[in-house]
Amino acid sequence: RRWSLTLPGGYAVGAGRHPDAPAIIDELGTLTWAEVNNRSTRLAHGLAGLGLRTGDTLAVLCRNHRGLIESMVAAGKLGAHLVLLNTGASAAQIGAVLRDEEITLVVADAEFRPLLAKAPRGVRRVTAWTDEKTRSETVESLIAASPATELPAPSAHGRVIVLTSGTTGTPKGARRPEVHGLFTASTLLSKIPLRYGQRVLVAAPLFHTWGLAALQLGMLLGSPLVLQRRFDPKSTVDALARHRCAVLFAVPVMLQRILELPREVLREHHPAELKIVASSGSTLPGALAVEFQREFGPVLYNLYGSTEVSWVSVATPAELTVAPATAGRPPLGTRLAILDEAGEPVPPGGTGRIFVANGLLFDGYTNGKSKEVRDGMMSTGDVGYLDPAGRLFVAGRDDDMIVSGGENVYPREVEDLLARQPQVREVAVLGVPDREFGQRLAAYVVLDEQADLDAAGVQELVKANLARHCVPRDVVFLEALPRNATGKVLKRELPRPS
Ligand code: ATP
Repeated sequence: RRWSLTLPGGYAVGAGRHPDAPAIIDELGTLTWAEVNNRSTRLAHGLAGLGLRTGDTLAVLCRNHRGLIESMVAAGKLGAHLVLLNTGASAAQIGAVLRDEEITLVVADAEFRPLLAKAPRGVRRVTAWTDEKTRSETVESLIAASPATELPAPSAHGRVIVLTSGTTGTPKGARRPEVHGLFTASTLLSKIPLRYGQRVLVAAPLFHTWGLAALQLGMLLGSPLVLQRRFDPKSTVDALARHRCAVLFAVPVMLQRILELPREVLREHHPAELKIVASSGSTLPGALAVEFQREFGPVLYNLYGSTEVSWVSVATPAELTVAPATAGRPPLGTRLAILDEAGEPVPPGGTGRIFVANGLLFDGYTNGKSKEVRDGMMSTGDVGYLDPAGRLFVAGRDDDMIVSGGENVYPREVEDLLARQPQVREVAVLGVPDREFGQRLAAYVVLDEQADLDAAGVQELVKANLARHCVPRDVVFLEALPRNATGKVLKRELPRPS
């Protein structure tokens, strides 16, 4: 049998090596490696019975649970391609992806049925997670009704298409050979000291590049994955303690929510075995890094990367202690450069566009476009700088830069300053058109419950700490910031100041 470094390969190998060890722990209970392998084989037969063939494409639209992983493994067993749909996308966006990718079958949680309203006719649907008592065409009913005879290993691997978060517009489908995921996971091990069998709680969505990396890493290590369908800070710390997890994969806003829990809750559910908390997907504010390590000890890793370029650099707990806002250093074998507009390297300390070559770049978007490449390196779409010690600092996205009265301002600089203020719970800064200055800064602030701060107070704070052109001329107070499924602030959904 020729299974290689793919999800079906990993679960088949795990079923041979440690069949009775736990592989997935979710709200329905524990599945062993043998069970996941066996159930995925049955599911593959069931999906084949519904018409899914080698070379066809299966789409999944699910929260984190066994049915999502089993569908992914089943697709691999059939040699089908896989599209990981983002549950935060709109029905129109999902309809377009299903049409463009010529999807044969979609496995979706019952709660996301409305998102399939624009699916092209003829796309078969299978329900993954449902609270209803339906017996027809659910993942469970297909598993129950299908044989467990192993399928022949497919000669070609399926492709995995991961949707970007859609932070800057419509989510884009990024094509990646499935084996990439495993290489990504193995290079991560050179920086993050995970060990065989450690329990991993994946709070980040598995359909996002970051959650997918966690899934592949867990599989590579033979680690049980602890999954919760919804992130909730209290039940997450409770699950960390109850399942004795050593590792948490999360996005920054989740860590923020955990820290906001009352101290008694944190004390009562203290995750004593927690050794590694890996954060990625968006900026980890320096103040959050400091506070998190004060509460949980030196456990935090900040990974910088994207759907297109996989991961670029990691900051270790020690690096986050000396330079809390850093995204760390790239691993061995990764080439990282800061380039100016002309493509020339910018010396340390100077801000420019971040380019990377790491052997893990994607194959392009499904719309035929790709990211800019210079000298064999791909643009990450972000700007940043290296400090003299070679540590990377991400200043923000290329297109977030605000030019106000001829001065360049990166909103992140102002956001970081304001986020450090105890009165401020969340903040986002963006550029809005201005007749006099071209653009001016607008700050959107969510205050702490006890805070006593007005617009002038916010402006004073910035004036006292940063250059004049960084002072937001508009300050808008909100109850909460609009965020997507991976916790990123959706700046385009912020109300424009009048
Ligand atoms: P879209 O391309 O559709 O707008 P997106 O870029 O948000 O969506 P992702 O691939 O999910 O899609 O996000 C990658 C981006 O997230 C990076 O380019 C960077 O801007 C940001 N990011 C991820 N991790 C970090 C980090 N550790 N520090 C700073 N920024 C980060």
